[in-house]
Amino acid sequence: MAIQWFPGHMHLTRKAIAERIKDIDVVIELLDARLPGSSANPLLSELTGHRPTLKILNKQDLADPARTPAWLDWYNARPGTRAIALDASERAPARRLLAACQELAPERRGLARPMRVLTCGIPNVGKSTLINSLAGRAQAKTGDEAGITKQEQRIVVADDFYLWDTPGMLWPRIIVAQSGFNLAASGAVGRNAYDEELVVLELLGYLQRHYAQALVERYKLDMAPQDVAQLHDDELLTAIGRKRGAVMSGGRVNIQKAAELVLTDLRAGAIGRVTLETPPEFEAWLAVGEAQ
Ligand code: GDP
Repeated sequence: MAIQWFPGHMHLTRKAIAERIKDIDVVIELLDARLPGSSANPLLSELTGHRPTLKILNKQDLADPARTPAWLDWYNARPGTRAIALDASERAPARRLLAACQELAPERRGLARPMRVLTCGIPNVGKSTLINSLAGRAQAKTGDEAGITKQEQRIVVADDFYLWDTPGMLWPRIIVAQSGFNLAASGAVGRNAYDEELVVLELLGYLQRHYAQALVERYKLDMAPQDVAQLHDDELLTAIGRKRGAVMSGGRVNIQKAAELVLTDLRAGAIGRVTLETPPEFEAWLAVGEAQ
């Protein structure tokens, strides 16, 4: 497999979830709306004792708005699961989250105690951003540094809504190669775990097939989208590098630099709103992965 990545603190996260879960009504798993299948942890349901789960497709502002509804339907069709799309610009998501959690745990109605929720998510999915916006300025936690495991924290979102944040992070369990590429492209995987050029060539191959027009516009390519789709992916990367000035002395394109530029653009949404997988594609990858 091209990409294998397991941050060291995953065992701690697993243990923390196991200890906390008995008090929890609903689990919230944050997903990246650009890769809603690959950014989910397939072991979560097992880890949480099959608790009702709210999937938040976060960063929806970066995702293809034509594709997000299909992913919401895909998750909503699962028993014990609801899905909503969100982005960091939503000022007060708390009521919407609480309403979705209440739908998932209806037997709690009439109970005096608050809704108790545990949040999980792979790195870079926007968990801190969401928690800070739920907690409000007064409770926002500062001083977290990458690699330093923070303590479990409880956030009182409202009198009737408590939220626990797991210490450490939920690691992606990369079971198919395509998921690994998409996770790396999105920035969820540590940089030393993948080869940028390889990831970008895979990414460009997908964008050529599905978002050729966006590539033409972003990189001012002097060709029609259908011709972009026909280019060999390394020809495309070279053309992009030339257009963006990633050129070495002697006029040769610096491919490493060109690859970095494409990744930066993707992560910032500069290529446009793209989603790197559809439910049928993801299901097909899983079927191949399971057969192997
Ligand atoms: P964490 O590792 O899951 O805690 O992720 P962070 O909250 O640190 O967010 C990772 C990056 O994604 C940061 O640069 C955030 O500003 C950005 N981010 C988080 N949520 C959103 C969102 O909904 N939309 C966009 N465009 N960026 C987001």
